[in-house]
Amino acid sequence: MSLECTRCTAPTAEGIHLCATCAAQLTATLDQIPDALATARDTVARLDATGTSSGGGGNPAKPPVNLTAMEAVTELQELCVSWARMTLEHDDNDSLRNVESVPYLKMSLHIIRGNDWAGDLLDELDGSLRKVIRAVDVPPEVMNMGRCWTTREDQSQCPGLVRRVGSNSIARCHECGETYEAAALLEHLKDKGRAALAPLSVIVKALHQSKTIRITQKSAERWVAEGHLVSEQMNDKGVRLFTATQVIQAAASKSIGRPRKAA
Ligand SMILES: [Zn+2]
Ligand SMILES: [Zn+2]
Repeated sequence: MSLECTRCTAPTAEGIHLCATCAAQLTATLDQIPDALATARDTVARLDATGTSSGGGGNPAKPPVNLTAMEAVTELQELCVSWARMTLEHDDNDSLRNVESVPYLKMSLHIIRGNDWAGDLLDELDGSLRKVIRAVDVPPEVMNMGRCWTTREDQSQCPGLVRRVGSNSIARCHECGETYEAAALLEHLKDKGRAALAPLSVIVKALHQSKTIRITQKSAERWVAEGHLVSEQMNDKGVRLFTATQVIQAAASKSIGRPRKAA
C-alpha cells in the first residue's frame, strides 16, 4: 500500500496516490484545459483567416504558429481522452461513459487518486496544457470571464467563453457573439469568489490583496477561538475552511461598538 504521493512524494493516507496539494493542482489544470483549447483554436482560426501564419520574428527556423498550436491542441485532446479511458476502466459507474473527457476526469478525482498512475496523469496533462498555452502566447490583456449565459435553441447552455479585451466595457462570447457588460460580470465573479471555501490564511491574504478589508491573521484566528467565526467544513488534511463572506461579516459585526478614532 502506498503511503506517499506518486508525484511529489508527500505523505498520503493508505491507498491514496496523489496528495491534496497535487489533487488541487490537477483540478486547476483540468479547469484551464477547455479555455486553453478554445483560445488556441481561436488563434489558429484568426491566423488562417488573415494568412499571417509565418513564424514569429521573421525567424525561418521557427515553424508557423498555427501549425505548432494545432499539434499542441491535438496532443492535449488525445491525452485527455486516453486518461479518461484509463480512469473509466476503474470506474464501476457505466452511466458516465458518454461524458466528455475533461468533465469526466474532473468528477473522477477520487478514482484517479486511488491509482498509482495518478502522478503520471497530472504530469502529462499539465505539461501538454503548458505547451498549448505557450504555442498561442495569449496576450495577457484578454480576460476570461467564464462561461456564456446564453441558452441555445435546444435549451442547452452556450458552450462559449466570455472574454474581455483590455479595459473594454463590453465582454463578448467567442462562440455565439453575445455581449455582456464587463463590470456586471466582474461583480458576479467576485460574488462567486466570496462563496468559495478556503483556509483562513488564504482568505485573509486574498481580502488584503483585493483591498476589500484589512484584517490581521491574528484577529481572524481570535474570532475563530472566540466562536465568532465558525467553520462548517474541513479539507482532507483537517484544516478548517471558511468563506470570504463569513470573514467580512465577522469583521463588520466586530467593528460595531468600536468606533473608529477620527484621524
Ligand atoms: Zn503530491
Ligand atoms: Zn455564447
